[in-house]
Amino acid sequence: MKRLVLAGGGHSHVEVLRRFGDEPMADIEVVLVSPAADTTYSGMLPGLVAGHYSWRDCHIDLDALTRHAGAKFRQTCVTGIDPVQRHIICDSGLVLDWDVLSLDIGSVPPCGGVSGATQFGVAVKPVDRFLAAWDGILERAGVDPLRLVVVGGGAGGVELGLAMHHRLASTPGVRPCDVTLVTQAETIVPEMAAGARRRLRAALSHHGIGLIAGIAVCAVDAEGLTLSNGARVPADVVVWTTGAAAPLWLRDTGLALDKGGFVEVDEFLQSASHPGVFATGDVAAHRDARVPKSGVYAVRQGPPLAANLRLALEAQPLRPWQPQRRTLALLSTGDARAVAAWGGWSAEGSWVWRWKNHIDTRFMRRYRMAP
Ligand SMILES: Cc1cc2nc3c(=O)[nH]c(=O)nc-3n(C[C@H](O)[C@H](O)[C@H](O)COP(=O)(O)OP(=O)(O)OC[C@H]3O[C@@H](n4cnc5c(N)ncnc54)[C@H](O)[C@@H]3O)c2cc1C
Repeated sequence: MKRLVLAGGGHSHVEVLRRFGDEPMADIEVVLVSPAADTTYSGMLPGLVAGHYSWRDCHIDLDALTRHAGAKFRQTCVTGIDPVQRHIICDSGLVLDWDVLSLDIGSVPPCGGVSGATQFGVAVKPVDRFLAAWDGILERAGVDPLRLVVVGGGAGGVELGLAMHHRLASTPGVRPCDVTLVTQAETIVPEMAAGARRRLRAALSHHGIGLIAGIAVCAVDAEGLTLSNGARVPADVVVWTTGAAAPLWLRDTGLALDKGGFVEVDEFLQSASHPGVFATGDVAAHRDARVPKSGVYAVRQGPPLAANLRLALEAQPLRPWQPQRRTLALLSTGDARAVAAWGGWSAEGSWVWRWKNHIDTRFMRRYRMAP
């Protein structure tokens, strides 16, 4: 019997499990390895922070999904891969052989280079740790007015800043809090067109969220931030959402990695150095295409990954995957409104949030397995 090991319960692997459950393969053992029994759907995370959704609304039950797929679930974290001996090593001591391995383990926030960021900042990933910290922040805000600083002006940072502000401003008993966004880039969401950027800047200013752009953070301490121009930004809470870095342990695996340490893959989503190893989502670096590190692309890679894992297990030729050039971005602004952007076109309003809510809740229904 051949064994397929799925490392990480990310956005592509949930679709792989769903498809393997709908159409099981004979004589194949599927094993999912994940540190948590539930995985967060990133599209609804800001809505959870804002208080629009419950924890369950935004989480996929990996245990139920693996049962649907007739797969085994191992709750542990992969810490090493030997692509020559074809086994993974986990922090529980588990060593697991594989015939085909797929990695969908996401990324980590790149705060290592800034002094004090890891010690005094709250990183947005791992999400379960962030959500526990967020509960603590809400409790503290019931006692003292807090100054919150979100570092990172990408889509995640802007959505999170707006969501936190909304929750703090709308929760009875919470003291008035200040939220400020700090970004090294000259503008927030630089990858988006000017119209969408303008709408998001207007949302920040409408809610009284401060914006410091074009200056790097060089240190974090218990009292706040020090910027590269020497200025101090006082803060009681610093949330770190600056892009995506690769897990460091990948460097010891012998897999071909890009300059950032992400697993280099070809058009088949397969390792550029080791056939039989696949990678998707944030952890993958596409050799021949520009694929942004976003949940949308990780979701899109689910069906072609499922197809190629089947083909690899059957020793059949793989099928290439082509990323779409443009995707629809829907960013919530905290107050049950959202901004939509498609290339140069953009729109804003409560109808955009209802549209986003419809897409997100429909997505989640696909992974809700009957008990
Ligand atoms: C606040 C915020 C909002 C965002 N909003 C959006 C949005 O609206 N739309 C969008 O497209 N993108 C959004 N993003 C980006 C999005 O979160 C990521 O691009 C997306 O989650 C990547 O999906 P993934 O499948 O690669 O990994 P993830 O979704 O991060 O899943 C990785 C999984 O692997 C597990 N794992 C991690 N390490 C290991 C290990 N060593 N061994 C085993 N398992 C492991 C984790 O527990 C997790 O279950 C947002 C990001 C943030 C921070």
